[in-house]
Amino acid sequence: MALQTREQHIKRDRATSNICTAQVLLAVMAGMYAVYHGPKGLKVIAKNIHLNAVKLEKKLEDLGLKQLNRYYFDTLCVQADAKIIKSIAEKDNVNFLYFDKHTIGISINETTDDSSLLKILNIFEQAVKQKSSSEKIEVDSFRIPVKQSRKSSFLTHKTFNTYHSETALMRYIKSLERKDLALNHSMISLGSCTMKLNAAAEMLPLSWAKWSNIHPFVPIEQAAGYQFMLKSLEAQLNEITGFAATSLQPNSGAQGEYSGLMVISAYHHSRGEQNRNICLIPSSAHGTNPASAVMAGMKVVVIKTDEMGNIDWLDIAQKAEEHKDNLAALMITYPSTHGVFESNIRQITKKIHDFGGQVYMDGANMNAQVGLTSPAMIGADVCHLNLHKTFAIPHGGGGPGVGPICVAKHLEAFLPNNPLIKTGGENAISSISGAPWGSALVCLISYGYIKMLGASGLKRATEIAILNSNYIKKRLEGAYEILFSGENGRTAHELIIDCRPFKKQNIEVVDIAKRLIDYGFHAPTVSFPVAGTMMIEPTESENLSEIDRFCDAMISIRMEIGSNDDADLAMLKNAPHTLQMITCDHWNHPYSRQKAAFPLEFVKENKFWPSVRRVDETFGDRNLICSCEPVENYINA
Ligand SMILES: *Cc1c(COP(=O)(O)O)cnc(C)c1O
Repeated sequence: MALQTREQHIKRDRATSNICTAQVLLAVMAGMYAVYHGPKGLKVIAKNIHLNAVKLEKKLEDLGLKQLNRYYFDTLCVQADAKIIKSIAEKDNVNFLYFDKHTIGISINETTDDSSLLKILNIFEQAVKQKSSSEKIEVDSFRIPVKQSRKSSFLTHKTFNTYHSETALMRYIKSLERKDLALNHSMISLGSCTMKLNAAAEMLPLSWAKWSNIHPFVPIEQAAGYQFMLKSLEAQLNEITGFAATSLQPNSGAQGEYSGLMVISAYHHSRGEQNRNICLIPSSAHGTNPASAVMAGMKVVVIKTDEMGNIDWLDIAQKAEEHKDNLAALMITYPSTHGVFESNIRQITKKIHDFGGQVYMDGANMNAQVGLTSPAMIGADVCHLNLHKTFAIPHGGGGPGVGPICVAKHLEAFLPNNPLIKTGGENAISSISGAPWGSALVCLISYGYIKMLGASGLKRATEIAILNSNYIKKRLEGAYEILFSGENGRTAHELIIDCRPFKKQNIEVVDIAKRLIDYGFHAPTVSFPVAGTMMIEPTESENLSEIDRFCDAMISIRMEIGSNDDADLAMLKNAPHTLQMITCDHWNHPYSRQKAAFPLEFVKENKFWPSVRRVDETFGDRNLICSCEPVENYINA
């Protein structure tokens, strides 16, 4: 598993999702579990689980019951009357897996202690009206095939063999955290990514056992609280988007796109129009759009955008007509990926409908719409939302993501089902995720966010997000060229600044991005959607003084570029400056250490020291740079 050094891998046509949707936080948690317990600890845990399973098997066999798994690790498959067992078990607050009328699955884990084992045994004793012998069971045999037991060593790296106390683990995690330039240090203005506040009050319920210690497949009547919360969230999202129904199943924006397009396909099929498989996508779209369309079995036809960043009206009108017999959908991002509200959006969506197509709106950036306009208002039929952007779920190394789709009435019947618990409509497409409501736990964050802000608060958040973006535009206008703005000279919630003119001085956009780290800021999105530019999205969460600090840094960098002093240009090329570099006894750069590390007064108060200098962009993406032991050490492994 590799966690790359950059969050933004959008890269237009070769895009991947945000790393939150790769469930990074969960992977980190699993990794830390291994760090804490190490290979020895994990083995002890596994052995105890297995021995408890064997113990339980023996006790159940004592009662005359039959266990069907010849080999097993933690899961028994017991023959008994499922109906009787279920009624007794549920009275005791125990859930088993009921395969059929007389086959019951029981899984043991490391939290299953002796009292839980007794409880399980007791349920079966009641069912067969018999007591098991009180003899202590000596477990002497493993039920894992000898051939398959592992002999080789594992987790040999020192990280997995060092931090086995809570104090040590805490310091280890802290040392890693210090290497991250995160939202708890300064604003992260990643355009198209909405790095907003994840309020403590919204996050709090996630650690409550009643929410977190519940299995996604418990009988639905045992999760009435969850049902209430999820239903309310669906209703809230229906109202916000202006649509009729919502599915919370997809775990990312990209997965939402895929689900939405599958729903559109199912709709066309239900009308006997199986031939409709053309998906129009503007060239400015987020790279996940064409990828999702291809996965959903559609053929992508690219629509041009004009120099203002708007969809080329003539091109879309012509292509929609040309493909009218097979037109499945238009995927459109609004406000556009260039950060502009396109004023002819309704004209565009109508055109698609006239030719029998459906309109999919990429609603990842609802932060510029909530309360002011809506996907339904602009004439879309489906949209996904990124709850991990607009609706306050953390992402960018956190997650997991939630990318629900909201649909108009005529598409409701096709929302995705789940094989174990019924979800979706009457003509539901098959499930998109394993769990019926996706990452249900983190939905609490968005639920809390919407509840606490209320309608007027949500609208105000949108207004401030747009205002903040336009404030930055005004402040940076003299220093940088702002690429796109709407008819009124305004941007939506984000703006793009052009860094290509600096190529004359041999300064690239990445030099500015790296120099920002010296000022204590994470770079905005780089080279998306236009190569050589930066896309800045402040969100409503940042106050004026933080936004001003960011603008001061950007203007100061612009002055470094404009000074035409070779020393300044060298400083930009060398950025970011590590502590090691600045404190090195040999300093032979043509600029001062002070200027390199503390370019503005405010930097002194809250200095961030990057732990590495540059990792070459593309090279770094393509070649895993491992900070582990040298390769030679693995030769014998
Ligand atoms: C973030 C984003 C996506 C993809 O969302 P993921 O959750 O990363 O899959 C799609 N479209 C737009 C416009 C986005 O900003």
